Amino acid sequence: MDIKDLENFKNKYNSDLFFNFDIKKLNWFNIGGKSKIFFKPKNLIELKQFLKIYNNRGKIFILGMGSNVLFKDTIYEGVIIKLSNNFSTLSKLKPNTIIAGSACSQKKLSEYALENEISGFEFMYCIPGSVGGGLQMNSGCFGTEFKDKLISLQCIDTNGNIKIIPSNKITFKYRKIDLNENLIFLSATFEGNLSNKNKIKNLMEELKIKKNNSQPSKIKTGGSTFKNPIDQTTKKAWELIKASVPKNINFGDACISKKHSNFFVNKNNATFEEMYSLINFVKKNVKDKTGVNINLEIKIVE
Ligand SMILES: Cc1cc2nc3c(=O)[nH]c(=O)nc-3n(C[C@H](O)[C@H](O)[C@H](O)COP(=O)(O)OP(=O)(O)OC[C@H]3O[C@@H](n4cnc5c(N)ncnc54)[C@H](O)[C@@H]3O)c2cc1C
Repeated sequence: MDIKDLENFKNKYNSDLFFNFDIKKLNWFNIGGKSKIFFKPKNLIELKQFLKIYNNRGKIFILGMGSNVLFKDTIYEGVIIKLSNNFSTLSKLKPNTIIAGSACSQKKLSEYALENEISGFEFMYCIPGSVGGGLQMNSGCFGTEFKDKLISLQCIDTNGNIKIIPSNKITFKYRKIDLNENLIFLSATFEGNLSNKNKIKNLMEELKIKKNNSQPSKIKTGGSTFKNPIDQTTKKAWELIKASVPKNINFGDACISKKHSNFFVNKNNATFEEMYSLINFVKKNVKDKTGVNINLEIKIVE
């Protein structure tokens, strides 16, 4: 891939554009090699200019907070774009309507909703990703998902066209939405209900305690590795894994959390191959022992 013009772009705009950039530290698993190009746009104008010059010459991957992705140890032959903090503003459109930048953390959005006495965002307090990642994954917990709060999202396609997509034009599935993966979400408008600060705060704390009781924290993980196979059984993925795979199985430094069987952990210096071997081992054993096919929730970046 010719990158001379991108080098010129970097110099001209003093951009946060890097070549052969280390991506290990940019994801929760702490696994991964390098990205041929890594770009952190300071604003929309710079992002648009970059997309024009890049001109779809190679792959594009949008990275949020990296809490749901698994990178290979090789070189990603394309550009990884991570929106800078300037894309994380929060504002109110109406008393119960919030516009959130995609780079904003879900936790910050829930705290902003609390400050403004808007309920409905408490579940986001427990999810360690960005608003952009939450939209792409239709993230959720304790019975509420992004789809339940979304009014519309604002995005840019890889040709630089800005679009506003209303929620009723999006098909939401379990941890998935049916939009082109190359759309870069810029911000989203959400609606909640006016409520009372104490009530909201109590619910946030309650959900956090529930989460801490059931899931490990302060570990290198991507959260739930597999989706719950709701169409095949009422059993959760963690139950199927617990029933099919020895607890202490490991491939090098890749192992399964003792606290939650669907959380796979990089104990220290796991490689992609080790984590991938663990994933395949678990998938095969669950199929052999229970007959159920479990599919990945985490995204392997190809
Ligand atoms: C400890 C732990 C607990 C978790 N608990 C939950 C939970 O309770 N519920 C739940 O649903 N998930 C959970 N997760 C998974 C994860 O946090 C969510 O999926 C989160 O919403 C991902 O956000 P992210 O910013 O980290 O996205 P990333 O992991 O960076 O990316 C995920 C996907 O979103 C896309 N994406 C990110 N930003 C944008 C953007 N601006 N525009 C377009 N696409 C974008 C990426 O391309 C990728 O396809 C957990 C993960 C961990 C590590």
